[in-house]
Amino acid sequence: MSTQLFMPTFRVDECLEEIRECLEKGWTGLGFKTVQFEDRWKEYTGLENAHFLNSATVGLSLAFKILKMQNGWSDDAEVITTPLTFVSTNHAILYENLKPVFADVDEFLCLDPKDVESKITNKTKAILFVGIGGNAGRYLEIVDLCKKYDLALVLDAAHMAGTRINGKVPGNEADAVVYSFQAVKNLPTADSGMICFREKDNDELCRKLTWLGINKDTYARSNDKGAYKWKYDVEYVGYKYHGNSIMASIGLVQLKYLDQDNAYRKQLANWYDEGFRNQPNIRPVPMASNCDASRHLYVIEVDKRDELLLALNESEIYPGVHYRDNTEYKMYSYAKGSCPNSHRLSERILSLPMHLRMKKSDVDNVVEHIVKFTNM
Ligand SMILES: *Cc1c(COP(=O)(O)O)cnc(C)c1O
Repeated sequence: MSTQLFMPTFRVDECLEEIRECLEKGWTGLGFKTVQFEDRWKEYTGLENAHFLNSATVGLSLAFKILKMQNGWSDDAEVITTPLTFVSTNHAILYENLKPVFADVDEFLCLDPKDVESKITNKTKAILFVGIGGNAGRYLEIVDLCKKYDLALVLDAAHMAGTRINGKVPGNEADAVVYSFQAVKNLPTADSGMICFREKDNDELCRKLTWLGINKDTYARSNDKGAYKWKYDVEYVGYKYHGNSIMASIGLVQLKYLDQDNAYRKQLANWYDEGFRNQPNIRPVPMASNCDASRHLYVIEVDKRDELLLALNESEIYPGVHYRDNTEYKMYSYAKGSCPNSHRLSERILSLPMHLRMKKSDVDNVVEHIVKFTNM
């Protein structure tokens, strides 16, 4: 049997039951289940605001758009970010004509507060933190830096659904938190995301911007019987970024099982840890000690990563790499060489298969192949 990196699990009947409600009601779009999912998400996370989107990529883009609008940042304002992430993190900065400035990562593969501090200039307006694999890294020190230098903070929580720091879901201290519920994330739907702004007025602005800039309040106030539904105002050149009720239906079911599913991911990670104990050539990337991680990823650091990857493929084991140093991409090559630790690690890290259909025997099989290769 082949072992894939990711393979989402759905409680099919429960998902279909939620979706059936939408179909029978004749309501598959914005509203209905999207509102229910937003309410459930706020309850689960304890965050004040939550707006359901069609992806995390648009969420990150909106976070910067809104913070830039509200704070009057100029076009050359700098955002300190990590080169070890999915490109949508950094594209979101460029979408808004801001400048990504790359800082290096630490042993958690997350932003290193020391290097971040050294990259702060008088143009720096924000820090964008990515909790890789659900890890919190030194997030709390980044929060302190933002306070010290009066910077905005955006948390790319695409891997962090269910992660706690000191027992609490992080995010209240950030200006915006963005989650991804893309097809292979640890809370998979098909494509969707959530943005949680700290400030109510940012959340309200965001709701207008995700539906073409339409201000629904105009008609809501003037006539709740609906006769004047078309008489809304359009205040901004907004987008079509909001989520829909079919995705929210799946999300509602997934959220019910999130903690249970993450606990099983942790079990898988523990089995990997045990298997790699006393293997000096295999270094599992540690989780921050204050962090109860979603465990979206299980990452090891090894020599000859590319050769190992090929050898595992031969045995029908398909790991991945999260991520390639973004400064290697043409788009971000202006910063090439600015983050040596990220660069070195991006050539040595490997994400091992991690999903709910795996059993201990699957983990043992992966471990066995890797141990054999590294001791050759
Ligand atoms: C997947 C991912 C995103 C983008 O999420 P989408 O919902 O696919 O737009 C952003 N950041 C990171 C770190 C991701 O892994």
